[in-house]
Amino acid sequence: MKPLQEVPVTELQGVGPALAEKLNRLGLFSLQDLLFHLPLRYEDRTQISALGQLRVGSTAVVEGEVISCEVSQGRRRSLLARIRDGSGLLSLRFFHFSASMKSQLQPGKRVRCYGEARPGATGLEIYHPEFRVLRDDQPPPALEQLLTPVYPVTEGLQQKRLRQLITAALQQMQEQPLDELLPQHLLQASQFAFLADWSLAAAIHYLHHPPADADLMTLSEGLHPAQRRLALEELLAQQLGMLALRQKVREEAAHPLRVESSTLEIRLLEQLPFQLTGAQRRVVSEVSQDLGLAHPMLRLVQGDVGSGKTLVAALACLKALASHCQAAIMAPTELLAEQHYQNLKTWLEPLGIRVEWLTGKLKGKLREALLKDLASGAIQLLVGTHALFQEEVAFAKLALVVIDEQHRFGVHQRLALRDKGKSGDYLPHQLVMTATPIPRTLAMSAYADLDVSVIDELPPGRQPVKTLVLPDSRRPEVIARVRSACEEGRQAYWVCTLIEESEVLECQAAEVTWQELQVALPDLNIALVHGRMKPAEKADVMAAFKAGSYQLLVATTVIEVGVDVPNASLMIIDNAERLGLAQLHQLRGRVGRGSTASYCTLIYHPPLSQQGRERLQAMRSTNDGFAIAQKDLEIRGPGELLGTRQTGEVQLRLASLKRDAHLLEGLKPLAIQLQRESPEQAKLLLKRWRGNSLHFAQV
Ligand code: ADP
Ligand code: MG
Repeated sequence: MKPLQEVPVTELQGVGPALAEKLNRLGLFSLQDLLFHLPLRYEDRTQISALGQLRVGSTAVVEGEVISCEVSQGRRRSLLARIRDGSGLLSLRFFHFSASMKSQLQPGKRVRCYGEARPGATGLEIYHPEFRVLRDDQPPPALEQLLTPVYPVTEGLQQKRLRQLITAALQQMQEQPLDELLPQHLLQASQFAFLADWSLAAAIHYLHHPPADADLMTLSEGLHPAQRRLALEELLAQQLGMLALRQKVREEAAHPLRVESSTLEIRLLEQLPFQLTGAQRRVVSEVSQDLGLAHPMLRLVQGDVGSGKTLVAALACLKALASHCQAAIMAPTELLAEQHYQNLKTWLEPLGIRVEWLTGKLKGKLREALLKDLASGAIQLLVGTHALFQEEVAFAKLALVVIDEQHRFGVHQRLALRDKGKSGDYLPHQLVMTATPIPRTLAMSAYADLDVSVIDELPPGRQPVKTLVLPDSRRPEVIARVRSACEEGRQAYWVCTLIEESEVLECQAAEVTWQELQVALPDLNIALVHGRMKPAEKADVMAAFKAGSYQLLVATTVIEVGVDVPNASLMIIDNAERLGLAQLHQLRGRVGRGSTASYCTLIYHPPLSQQGRERLQAMRSTNDGFAIAQKDLEIRGPGELLGTRQTGEVQLRLASLKRDAHLLEGLKPLAIQLQRESPEQAKLLLKRWRGNSLHFAQV
């Protein structure tokens, strides 16, 4: 007998090409697919409810005697039948009806119906109930023994038909059980021992046909042990996929770098006016350990805005340079690339290191010369945007690539970038830095191919930013506050947010605000920076702001990431309700970098949506990026949080990263153990859940 995953749906009785095509549309090709096609919800048709017990919203089977049946000429013509059962009354209302229906529902007849009670003109009513007229000469039809599953269907495929097919697949499963791929003893020994009693087959059977007394509440929340048993298996398969990917990475070669601190590092640290924080020290050492290995590092450094990631990156680069290799730092925008370049140059040039910036501005001979020095190894550290990985750019011996602020990069893009840095048989080490903390549980899944380090400490002396939330009617107060702050020698940002997803409109809004503020604050020097200015213009404005030539900077969200002006201590965000939490937190992180008390004012335009209110409330209540990320996960769910590019990689069939987060914790060790003890089973498990469609199943 063929295993169920190889038996096509067409082998079920009555499934021809047309029906098969509809099933395929739902992703159902094999009998196993049918088994894994789980109900969205359940209906309880196992008992008859008394009419007197019905409440608005109850969905129930009821029985009663028809007392009247009339066509009602209300706003919409309908057929209205009233029934009673001794405990109460109910109306059945049909907006679409035939003459035969009216004659079926004659007074005196008994009917059994199913539907949802709602408030109507005559009291409780069910619109378009399912019904059947009971016959005096026959016993009433039996009630269902089990809860009735309601499946996701597609056009032209009836619930009833799909139920029959799945029931048939369940019967096949009795004769030919699915392989149990999760070894009992492993489950027993893990923190998932509470699920060990559930075999895969039992869980699947239960979820398609739950008994009448099943806990519908738990089932609807997705927290029934049968559901958790399946979610566990799916998430385990995902972890196995990531392990396989890591395994593959380990087989590649990289230049092992010197682990001990070099004189370069020591000199850099001596020259800084501050000490590394404990967290920076720990992360640097985690990175160093990886760099000492002969296979490429893939490490994510998460650190809240202002936690000092740039310095960690610089120290990692010095490891490469001390081992006579090159390093590259990639930033998402020219503005940020330039800022990194300036910082790194200040830090590293005194050590005799040649740092260069590969910008779009660089053309002709100058560019040629730069590329030549890069290829010869004369340039040790190169900073830039994506332009770093154009074809003509060749390094002499690139050992480390740092990617900054790219939390939206997916596994694919990360690996593609790394491959571009390949020279000979050697891949560069990769350090990814993100300021948008991703909740741990989510990171374990989405970034399971990466090792993660966390800088969970800010440099000492930072003042927490105080956040105010105000309606736009109080703008004049905000403007007054900007005036007095700037008069005291501080600097401020005024951010105009995205209008209807249009960059053009956003820039226009920024221009308008800039003009208004110039009128309102004639004594201040006010600059404008927006996404449609040339990179060079933007950089000039930013440099002038940083140098203190302007007191107020009106900007679009282009300043979101990385801009570092310690003297700026006031951040105003217009229409803050339009932005997501991560973005708001990023923007707020632009202030609070110096030692003066900083403020962030979120101006909103009422009325606020529920989500908008929750976001602004979260911003007011905490400065902790991780707490904010967790809140963001709760409000938006993981797909949104990771950005569209990445959602494909965490697409799950049954499990939910939000709901099943508590399962993730212990999964990695379980996956490692399974992989080690039973690699064949691990492979089958991966195949069962991931098919062949996803990249990590193929490695
Ligand atoms: P982010 O993690 O947001 O990229 P940066 O690397 O831009 O943060 O650092 C923010 C600021 O903190 C910079 O001005 C940097 O020089 C400074 N900084 C970094 N590490 C320390 C430290 N250990 N003590 C004091 N200041 C630090
Ligand atoms: Mg940064």
